[in-house]
Amino acid sequence: MISRYLSDDLSRPRCLGLQFNDLAALVAGVKSVVYTSAGSAEDMRRLDELCAGLKLKKLVLEERRDISGARISDLLIGPRPADLRRAGKAYSDIMSREWGEALGYPECCVRAYLGWKRKKDRLLRIKDLIFHILDSSPKGALFPFWMNNVPNYYSRLGLRSDHRSFVRFSELNSGADRETIIPWHPCSYRCPESMEKGRKIYEVLERYMPATAAFRKTFLSRPIVFSGKFSYVALDGECRREAGGFRVVHGGPAGPRAPGAGRLLRVLSAPGELKAPGRGAIYAAPGVRLPAGTRLLPFSASAAD
Ligand SMILES: [Zn+2]
Repeated sequence: MISRYLSDDLSRPRCLGLQFNDLAALVAGVKSVVYTSAGSAEDMRRLDELCAGLKLKKLVLEERRDISGARISDLLIGPRPADLRRAGKAYSDIMSREWGEALGYPECCVRAYLGWKRKKDRLLRIKDLIFHILDSSPKGALFPFWMNNVPNYYSRLGLRSDHRSFVRFSELNSGADRETIIPWHPCSYRCPESMEKGRKIYEVLERYMPATAAFRKTFLSRPIVFSGKFSYVALDGECRREAGGFRVVHGGPAGPRAPGAGRLLRVLSAPGELKAPGRGAIYAAPGVRLPAGTRLLPFSASAAD
């Protein structure tokens, strides 16, 4: 029955508000509640059919209008009514630990996200969450691809300019699958609990939608040269550990494409090689200057141990 809803036939009609990674997390038992939305009566009908098929319950939280003025229903789905009720109560404050934990996110990751968010509310220009997670990650270690949250902009947009940039990001990458594996933001790129849960989600995706899972693995395994929320370049290449740091041999830029990557692309448009210490500035070829504060995110297809 699950294969009706998780399959490589991406054109199959479905409720578009429900992400595959969230559904896979329910199937894997990593999450017991998924927060989603239905943007039309048709969406709601498909969601009801899915709930009936997979023996899930549904709890509608509220009906509202989204940014474009369209009517939308926010809701929860999950196998156990008690879990839905608990999450429904926590929904009154979505910036609470209770809400994050009700959705099955690791406690350490919820705490870390809320810490960053509170700082962000005071200091509008605080660095993007990705830097915050990178600073909490161990030096010199590769990051498993399923921990890559760079294309996940949920809960990371705050400034008005962010929304414009996000629209440009969506246009630049339109038509491409750019969903991540873990649907939350980890506290560290080697957070043990997120690594374990992410692995389980990926196993479900791989079982039911192998082509999509393989695409995501490639897409999310690329080393990323990161200078900001919308300014980064994912490189078509592999990151290897070398002398406590990393060496990346690459064939140039690959997706996802970021709208503010212009300065980086001038340096990284051709195949080449980069070196970086465990956690810090990148040494490019002599004479090559990257923007100040640029960091390497060493995602990899083979970083499980
Ligand atoms: Zn964590």
